[in-house]
Amino acid sequence: MKEFERTFDSLYEGMQDLSFAGVRNWKELHPGAKAVAFFPVYAPMELVHAAGMLPVLLSGAGDRLDIQHADSRFGSFICSIIKTTMEMAMTGHLEPFDGLLFSSICDSARNLCFVVKRNYPQMYVDFLHLPHSTSESSVDFLDAEYRRIITELERLGGAPVRQAALNRSIELYNEQRRLVRCLYDLRAQSPHLLRAWESYVLIRSGNLMPVEAHIEVLKQALDYLPTRPGKKRDAIRVVIEGAFCEQPPLELIRLLENAGCDIVEDDLAIAQRWFTEDVPLTGDPVRALAESYVQRSVYSSVRHDFSKPRWEGLAEKVRGTRAEAVIFLIAKFCEPAYFDFVLFKKKVDEMGLPHLLLEFEEKLFTFDRLRTEVETFVESLVFD
Ligand code: SF4
Repeated sequence: MKEFERTFDSLYEGMQDLSFAGVRNWKELHPGAKAVAFFPVYAPMELVHAAGMLPVLLSGAGDRLDIQHADSRFGSFICSIIKTTMEMAMTGHLEPFDGLLFSSICDSARNLCFVVKRNYPQMYVDFLHLPHSTSESSVDFLDAEYRRIITELERLGGAPVRQAALNRSIELYNEQRRLVRCLYDLRAQSPHLLRAWESYVLIRSGNLMPVEAHIEVLKQALDYLPTRPGKKRDAIRVVIEGAFCEQPPLELIRLLENAGCDIVEDDLAIAQRWFTEDVPLTGDPVRALAESYVQRSVYSSVRHDFSKPRWEGLAEKVRGTRAEAVIFLIAKFCEPAYFDFVLFKKKVDEMGLPHLLLEFEEKLFTFDRLRTEVETFVESLVFD
């Protein structure tokens, strides 16, 4: 399995491809089938998959697209992923997609949805209202919302979405999530066998390929990685918090690791870890998905759960991975992350843990200042 080492590079190349060649190839192999893209953070991929379509989770354009048009639609003080997604739409990069879905994660994402919809009236653009409560009526609400989306997908695809197909899709995504959990467990236990940037590439690349193909990649990884030669290093075990939507450049994740951090937990590309348990395969599948979202989702700054404070979720993450520090890695102008930073910081202070706040943009060209900050932070802990 030595050849598996080369997989990271090819997956990374796929992740960087703004022409969405993989999506175009899939559509050529499945004539007439549709592809539907989602804006982060969470999306019910199962519904789209069960409709015979390819669900694809967008992650902005990183440093691969200059903003030349999107500035005319949005003001300056807005996160980068909003602008690069708009720029992708305005420059034809989203042409392989037959539909675009957004959800109620923040005001910026809400605005983006309706700006795209107004600019591209011929395209199926929809907004998924996710509940902000954990009551039974929230399950009813989301159940109805999912059924509305299914009706739209049936209209787009011209075929009904059957219960058997929904169950099969849930089964596949359960398997994907189970394997991703295994990967995170392996990394937390043996960070010398799997670096965070590698696991990030393994996971995020799955947002762009059929779930069946991604499951195979994850299985191969989990077969190979425990046998990989690797030497434990003297590093600080850290949790990354705050990078759940706009994604940092891969170089920044590598920078943290090279500066002496073992990233044992994070909230990067969190969609594939959204549910804490398998979605049940008994009963009505749409109801099961709605219940899972409301009752068994991970904590997140874009999901409100009044039954359990989000900072307790972070505290559990820290304890569960025996982390020694928290790095708040927050996208510039990301309001949900900055609002929660205050609450998370209070909890981390109470726990007596050191922490560092770093701000990033998906488009970053110089890392010198960040490198100095991280190296100073790590040294302060090592020589404490
Ligand atoms: S990065 Fe933050 S502000 Fe920007 S779209 Fe995502 S959640 Fe909203």
